[in-house]
Amino acid sequence: MSEECSSQARDGTPVELNSSGCNQLIDVVVPLPIYMALTYILSGHTLFPPKGSRVLVPVGRRNMVGVAWGTPAKEPPPVDLKKVKRILDQGPILPEPLISFLEWTSSYYFYPIGQVMAEALPPGLLSARNRRISQITNGLPKSRDCRPEFLPWSTEVPLHLTKEQKEAFNTICDALATRSYHPILLHGVTGSGKTEVYLRAAKECVKQGRSVLVLVPEIAMTTQAVGWFVGRFGEEVTVLHSGLTEAQRRNQWFRIKKGESRIVVGTRSAIFAPLADIGLIVVDEEHDPSYKQSEKFRYQARDMALLRGRMSEATVILGSATPSVSSFKNSLSGKYQLVTMEKRVAKRSLPEVVVVDRRKKEKKDQHHKLESARPEWLSKELKDATEDTLARGEQVLLFLNRRGFATYIFCPDCGHVFRCPHCEVTLTWHRGDKRSKSEKDGVLRCHYCGMESAALPVCPQCMGQAVKTFGYGTERIAADLDEIFPNARIARLDRDTVRTRRHLEDVILDFRKGRLDILVGTQMITKGHDFPGLTLVGILCADLSLNFPEYHATERTFQLLAQVAGRAGRGERPGRVLIQTWLPDHYVLDCVTTHDFKAFYEKESKFRKALAYPPFGRLINLRFSGRKKAQVCDTAGNVARLAKNLAKGINNTGGPQVEVLGPAPAPRAKIKDRYRWQILLKSSSLSNLRTLCSGLLARKADMVPSSVRMEVDVDPYSLL
Ligand code: ADP
Ligand code: ZN
Repeated sequence: MSEECSSQARDGTPVELNSSGCNQLIDVVVPLPIYMALTYILSGHTLFPPKGSRVLVPVGRRNMVGVAWGTPAKEPPPVDLKKVKRILDQGPILPEPLISFLEWTSSYYFYPIGQVMAEALPPGLLSARNRRISQITNGLPKSRDCRPEFLPWSTEVPLHLTKEQKEAFNTICDALATRSYHPILLHGVTGSGKTEVYLRAAKECVKQGRSVLVLVPEIAMTTQAVGWFVGRFGEEVTVLHSGLTEAQRRNQWFRIKKGESRIVVGTRSAIFAPLADIGLIVVDEEHDPSYKQSEKFRYQARDMALLRGRMSEATVILGSATPSVSSFKNSLSGKYQLVTMEKRVAKRSLPEVVVVDRRKKEKKDQHHKLESARPEWLSKELKDATEDTLARGEQVLLFLNRRGFATYIFCPDCGHVFRCPHCEVTLTWHRGDKRSKSEKDGVLRCHYCGMESAALPVCPQCMGQAVKTFGYGTERIAADLDEIFPNARIARLDRDTVRTRRHLEDVILDFRKGRLDILVGTQMITKGHDFPGLTLVGILCADLSLNFPEYHATERTFQLLAQVAGRAGRGERPGRVLIQTWLPDHYVLDCVTTHDFKAFYEKESKFRKALAYPPFGRLINLRFSGRKKAQVCDTAGNVARLAKNLAKGINNTGGPQVEVLGPAPAPRAKIKDRYRWQILLKSSSLSNLRTLCSGLLARKADMVPSSVRMEVDVDPYSLL
């Protein structure tokens, strides 16, 4: 390479370009909300940077780090093109298969490619600060300071697989041997030993010289799945999650890119890991909602795992005891191969599940005034069962999917309800200090924006002195338990107590090792944990998630109940589960008590089909938000009008119809001072939905003022 053709000095540091010679055009993708690449001039003698390498370019008045995207496909617009300032990498920072994957996700989710890139790359790589650039281009910090610690759970290897594990493993090996795309749904009940199957499959894949990607739900980073992988494969594994520092994330990323680690275990965003030649992708607890990102780039990592698997000719295992309705449907239609494990390992039985009807009990309680020493959330059955369990020296897990001490605070004199001034929701009272018992202490917190204010002893509206609280959350449960079972060792796990990952790990480990008697928590405690001494699980209020205003509320309830129930009786002793509810006749409870996933699927899919909800219909939600109520409402109205017109055109062609629902205020009509409206697009044909959406985005600039944000949510999960 001759000196003047190179943009890099001999030591690899970038140098200013030579501006002589005849110029070439180059497309560059920058991390801005624009749907296309920008075209620049590259000085003639400069070696054309390969697609996927970083370049420094001027955008407006500032410089930005973008990614070279090849020669423009079209003639650039007749404007003065700017010059590329520097070429930052000698080769592509993104390997080619990953680039294609990112392009595909960008188009699928209607999310600008530059912003997809920013999400996929570790932090700092697209930062234009000079110090950052040289830090990253001049080599990385040494591995020793940047390898995150991780607690290996266990290095034991079971000698014998169960018959079902063996069959599952053989099926996976056959799939791996084909070296082609092969999706499998592994439906194995809780405690059937799915992790061991993943571990052996991973080993097999590495033996073939290919790499392995394992995705786990957000909170599950502390659960055994990760610990087992680290325990079994040691240094070969890279763990990627949001708890890492920026430097650690970058370091891990480059380790993977250089091929130093062939096994990656991580949460949602690990789907973008720069692994080469992936032979196996495992999505553990595939039903988990945390695979869907709920803001900005709203991708679904499980769905993207299938795409990435297809692109790299890999075996993809979706594993769960409670598969999503959508994945199960795909396994019935033959899109995925279904592998079932119906039995727990070591002949352990599934727990006995009993529904406690709170309606009758409430009435009875009124007769037995004596008993009302019990708090309202605790039935006699659950109290007795807890006492018995503790007396036997066994452990109890209590699940309530709501944080805080009281969930609703109001003034009985004037009816004033304490609400967040920034969000249209009620505030939750967090008492904090265990000893204080009055409403005067602690804080009122908004669970949407985090706003806090001191808990007031008086009503701000009428100065009434009798402020009352209503409803209970995990904090209240733990406080009550302390009084009812003064000798028990009690811990609480929810987002308030888990300030650090370490704390979460400690509590989980303490409970696993039998150093705690009762664990109270939110959904954080439901995921994939293996607690051998746990024999009683209490679900305090099944109605909370059942009454949630979303089309998938029942599915989510089934998952939560079955998963938390599945924590019981995983050791030597059999487990028991009590579910307290005011809706004892709901079909979901029958399905949970009988451990009958298929019955649940049949019922649920009928309902979904009738209303054309996913997976029987497809949805795209258009979200509008802004600080001015009228402006947001008008914008949504204008876009909806256009959408209805475009839909008419599509529907007239006679194919699958597209429905435009709305515009309507979002059920959570204001969050963080932004008013929210939405338009829901619904059809059995994704391609028709996409046509409509592209049509709208093409007109976005004319219709949506800059003070209103319009976001596209493809395959939305929450519609709140
Ligand atoms: P799942 O993920 O299906 O709920 P796990 O993978 O957590 O189940 O396995 C449950 C427990 O059974 C774990 O403690 C695991 O170590 C153990 N286990 C797995 N396979 C075997 C086996 N073949 N023999 C004995 N114990 C096993
Ligand atoms: Zn708020």
